[in-house]
Amino acid sequence: GVRHEPTNKIVLDLERLYDEASEELAYVARYARAIQQQRGDYNGRVLSIRADDLRALAIVYDASPSGLIERLTEHGVLVADPRALFAS
Ligand code: C2E
Ligand code: C2E
Ligand code: C2E
Repeated sequence: GVRHEPTNKIVLDLERLYDEASEELAYVARYARAIQQQRGDYNGRVLSIRADDLRALAIVYDASPSGLIERLTEHGVLVADPRALFAS
């Protein structure tokens, strides 16, 4: 089949993000909801976000973009390979 290159795209697992009880990710969740609204993208299990928006969000968390990515990874709300999610 078609070979896909791995990307550095930031893809949020919305189910996990919205289920996440911790206050720490409240701003990320709110931001994701706003982006869904702006795009009219309501039915996705995942959401790809702009690098620019990650940078803005990192400021809110007083972190670097890579620092925020680390925290998102710790919370398990990032999807490394969205296609794998749908294949399983
Ligand atoms: P816009 O930035 O003027 O983009 C207009 C349309 O161009 C978008 O409609 C989308 O179809 C396409 N587009 C723009 N940038 C990209 C991109 O990086 N990748 C892809 N695949 N398509 C892109 P859409 O999605 O209905 O969004 C409407 C408007 O909502 C956008 O207008 C923008 O103002 C806002 N918006 C949507 N998603 C985001 C986001 O993730 N971050 C920010 N800051 N604004 C967003
Ligand atoms: P991909 O980027 O690896 O995304 C795989 C699947 O994750 C997508 O399958 C879609 O079901 C889901 N997904 C990823 N980001 C979003 C999101 O922001 N919102 C929603 N609702 N779902 C998302 P899909 O749609 O069949 O796309 C397959 C592949 O086609 C994508 O793989 C990507 O390589 C390409 N593609 C689809 N839409 C766009 C687009 O707007 N821009 C670009 N550049 N590629 C796209
Ligand atoms: P993508 O669609 O694969 O786009 C990859 C990169 O190409 C984007 O990274 C951006 O730098 C550039 N790009 C693509 N389309 C446009 C465009 O219409 N205008 C401009 N100025 N640049 C464009 P970025 O911004 O980090 O976005 C990452 C991913 O987030 C995009 O991957 C797409 O899946 C999603 N995304 C970003 N903005 C929008 C949007 O407005 N609407 C939708 N539906 N998806 C978006």
